[in-house]
Amino acid sequence: MNALVATNRNFKLAARLLGLDSKLEKSLLIPFREIKVECTIPKDDGTLASFVGFRVQHDNARGPMKGGIRYHQEVDPDEVNALAQLMTWKTAVANIPYGGAKGGIGCNPGDLSVSELERLTRVFTQKIHDLIGIHTDVPAPDMGTGPQTMAWILDEYSKFHGYSPAVVTGKPIDLGGSLGRDAATGRGVLFATEALLNEYGKSISGQRFVIQGFGNVGSWAAQLISEQGGKIVLENANEIKAKFIIEAANHPTDPEADEILSKKGVVILPDIYANSGGVTVSYFEWVQNIQGFLWDEEKVNNELKTYMTKGFKDVKEMCKAHNCDLRMGAFTLGVNRVARATVLRGWEA
Ligand code: GLU
Repeated sequence: MNALVATNRNFKLAARLLGLDSKLEKSLLIPFREIKVECTIPKDDGTLASFVGFRVQHDNARGPMKGGIRYHQEVDPDEVNALAQLMTWKTAVANIPYGGAKGGIGCNPGDLSVSELERLTRVFTQKIHDLIGIHTDVPAPDMGTGPQTMAWILDEYSKFHGYSPAVVTGKPIDLGGSLGRDAATGRGVLFATEALLNEYGKSISGQRFVIQGFGNVGSWAAQLISEQGGKIVLENANEIKAKFIIEAANHPTDPEADEILSKKGVVILPDIYANSGGVTVSYFEWVQNIQGFLWDEEKVNNELKTYMTKGFKDVKEMCKAHNCDLRMGAFTLGVNRVARATVLRGWEA
């Protein structure tokens, strides 16, 4: 199922559980703004290459819009829309003062040299610099991008608006990045897993874990889980026999698979809670930049644990209140917080 159709479906199920007014439901679903830009760069051999860049700003009722920028050949408007919407619910579940956004460029970063990637990032920034900002929309890394990409965006943005480190998060430490941000999504996955297993009277130590994908999130999660005594089995499970699935990626399970797995009794900890450690530490980075004060890594990790533990408790409360699974618990939690903020702000023109 297309990512946007699947995300809209989960949103509508949550809206129904919450009994949301249909007009409010419609206004929450339509993105605040969708940006599509042409990015042409000279390649190293002197020929030109053109790419399409996107930024979807989904909702800003609870604060500046927040979300990553991905470089991948499959980036398309529907996927970016779905991921932007998921960021709105994710920041609300984490209870950090942000809305949701997502961006991307349809390209294969492996086919581009470092200087071509730098030119592409700068051209994209030139096209969107007026629409992002410290209190409007704050990009971060995602698939195919990282701290260096954020450094180029910061530098290009600063040419137009003056030096503004808080305009992006996930920066290199030397440019105002936060200690602990690189490991944050994986560490958040560890804390989320601990909170879930605790519910079942289990702990990480001695359990077997299969980790799918070994990028930034998977590799940090594997390292941190094994430090806690978890056994990492690195082979891929052909047929999932796991009792618990922790969604460290964004939108890894479509609704059909969700249904099959829950019929089998598999407990799924959904993406909008399970991988919220990354954006939570992005929030800490933004706060540090605005305050001009650096936290030590222990403070970052302790605060992250507090947010992840509270997030799980809040999701479970919604599961109880609406007699639903963890995905709907997280969706109802996020959608309800955004709906409340939207109603409080009103629609008066
Ligand atoms: N790209 C990450 C995510 O999907 C982090 C977003 C951010 O830090 O703004 O949650």
